[in-house]
Amino acid sequence: MAEALNFTYQALPMRVVFGAGSVASLPDEVSRLGLRRVLVLSTPEQEDTASRVAAALGDHVAGVHAKARMHVPVEVAAEARQVATDLGADGCVAVGGGSTIGLGKAIALEYGLPIVAVPTTYAGSEMTPVWGLTEGGQKRTGRDSRVLPHAVVYDPELTVSLPTGLSATSGINAIAHAVEALYAPDASPIISLMAEEGARALASALPSVVAAPEDIEARGEALYGSWLCGSCLGATTMSLHHKLCHALGGSFDLPHAETHTVVLPYALAYNAPAALPAVAALNRALGSGDPARALFELTGRLGAPRSLRALGFPADGIERVVEQVTATPYANPRAVTPDGVRELLRSALDGTPPVG
Ligand code: NAD
Repeated sequence: MAEALNFTYQALPMRVVFGAGSVASLPDEVSRLGLRRVLVLSTPEQEDTASRVAAALGDHVAGVHAKARMHVPVEVAAEARQVATDLGADGCVAVGGGSTIGLGKAIALEYGLPIVAVPTTYAGSEMTPVWGLTEGGQKRTGRDSRVLPHAVVYDPELTVSLPTGLSATSGINAIAHAVEALYAPDASPIISLMAEEGARALASALPSVVAAPEDIEARGEALYGSWLCGSCLGATTMSLHHKLCHALGGSFDLPHAETHTVVLPYALAYNAPAALPAVAALNRALGSGDPARALFELTGRLGAPRSLRALGFPADGIERVVEQVTATPYANPRAVTPDGVRELLRSALDGTPPVG
C-alpha cells in the first residue's frame, strides 16, 4: 500500500441470515425482534411471493400490502403508512427489490417500525440507511438510522424468478456500488475488501445466472456479491457514477438497473486515471487489465443494454444532465468538468467501447 493508512469506519448494526431455504427462518427472525403484527410489503407483481411469506409467518402477520412502486412516490408511501396504522402493525417484512424495501423505509422514517428485509434483486437497499421519496417527478434522498433494516434474510431461492435481463442489470448495479466504494472519500480497508470480493463474486456468477437462471449455486454467489456490494453502498459516499444515474433516472425516467449498467463502464473509464488503487482492486476482481473495458464486455456477454440510446435517452438531453451533475461540487477522484461529462455521455449514448 503506497499511502499511510488513515480512515474512519462506522459499522452498521445489522443481522444477516443467508442461504437457500433461509426464508423459513423468518418467523424466528420476527420473534427475535419481539414483533407480533408485521405488515408484509411487495410490489403487485410479487404479491404471490408476499402471500406465501405471509402464510409462513402465520400469527405474526397483520396483513399484506402489495402496492410498492419504483422510486417510492409520496402518495404510495402515505397509503402504506395509513394501512400500517389501521392494521396496528408493529413492523414490516419487505419482500422484493429496492422499490419494496424503499416502501418499508418510508414507513420506518415516519413511524420507526422495524424492517425485516427479504431482498429478491441485487440492488442492495437492504444494507443501507438511505431512503428515497419521489414527489412531482423529483426524488429526495436522505440518510436516517431508523430506516436501516434490523434483519435481512437472503434466500437465493427467491431470486430464481428474477428475469435474466433484470438479473444481469441488477447485478451490474450492485457492482457499481463496489466500484464507487473503492474510490470513495470515506473508503476504508474493510469496505475495500468487501468491494473487491463483491465485484468478483458477481462478475463470476452473472454469466451462469443468465445461462441457467435456476442454478441455485450461481444465484447464491450473485446474492452473496450483492450483499457485499450493498454493504459498501451503505458505508460510503457515492460519486460521479451515481450522480449521473440519479440525473438520468430522475429527469428522463430511465429504468434504474439498466441505467447503472450502461453508465458504469464510462464513469469508471473517466475516473480510472485518478483512482489507481481502485483500478488495481477491480483488475484482481475481474481478472482483467482494464476494468472499464472488462465491465463493458461482461455487459455484452450478459446480453444487457450498452447504450443510453437503447434505453430511450435523447441526444438533446445531454446538456441537461451535464448541468445537473456539474451544478454543485462533490467528492470524486477526478475533477468533474462539463467537457468531461459531455464526452462521457456522448460515448454512453452510442455505446462505443469506453476509453480510460
Ligand atoms: P425493483 O424493486 O423496482 O424491482 C423491479 C421489478 O422486478 C418489480 O416489478 C419487482 O416486483 C420485480 N422483482 C423483483 N424481484 C423479483 C424476483 N425475484 N422475481 C420476479 N420479479 C421480481 O428493482 P430494484 O432495482 O431492486 O430497485 C430499484 C429501486 O430501488 C430504485 O428506486 C432505486 O433508487 C432504489 N434503491 C435504493 C437503494 C437505497 O439504498 N435506498 C439502493 C438501491 C436501489
